[in-house]
Amino acid sequence: MSKEDQIVVHLHQLSDVPLRMSGSLSGEVFGIKEADRLTMDSPINYNLTAQLISDDQLLVQGKASTEADCFCDRCGKPFVYELACDDICHYVEEVHQEDIDLTDEIREELVLALPAKFLCQDDCAGICPSCNKNLNDHACDCEAPASAPSVWDKLDEL
Ligand SMILES: [Zn+2]
Ligand SMILES: [Zn+2]
Repeated sequence: MSKEDQIVVHLHQLSDVPLRMSGSLSGEVFGIKEADRLTMDSPINYNLTAQLISDDQLLVQGKASTEADCFCDRCGKPFVYELACDDICHYVEEVHQEDIDLTDEIREELVLALPAKFLCQDDCAGICPSCNKNLNDHACDCEAPASAPSVWDKLDEL
């Protein structure tokens, strides 16, 4: 079954009673493929309502979720990030055309919900700077690194 590649509502379907829409949108709409950090091409599941709240203003509410394939910013391990927006509340102004495309709105909501940093787990221990082992898998026997030179040491060298 092919996924939809757009979320479109038709003006004639809309009223002041919420119109329910749910389905699965192709992840192709993201077009995000950063080989070494983030790929987003998994389907987007959505469950939305659309409702005219005035003659030309549409309120879209609901949820959307997808999965992002990313690499941990601390240890480099690939993992799947579950990305969800549970409280979408979006106004579309000046609704006059018959077909109202909500695809961009939903994509934007999800992209904005991406974290600034991807961590495979909140307390990811990262990589040992001496032996390059992933410290989440096994602790290593390396000496704790001498404390990193502080800004003040650098200034002293000037
Ligand atoms: Zn990690
Ligand atoms: Zn080590």
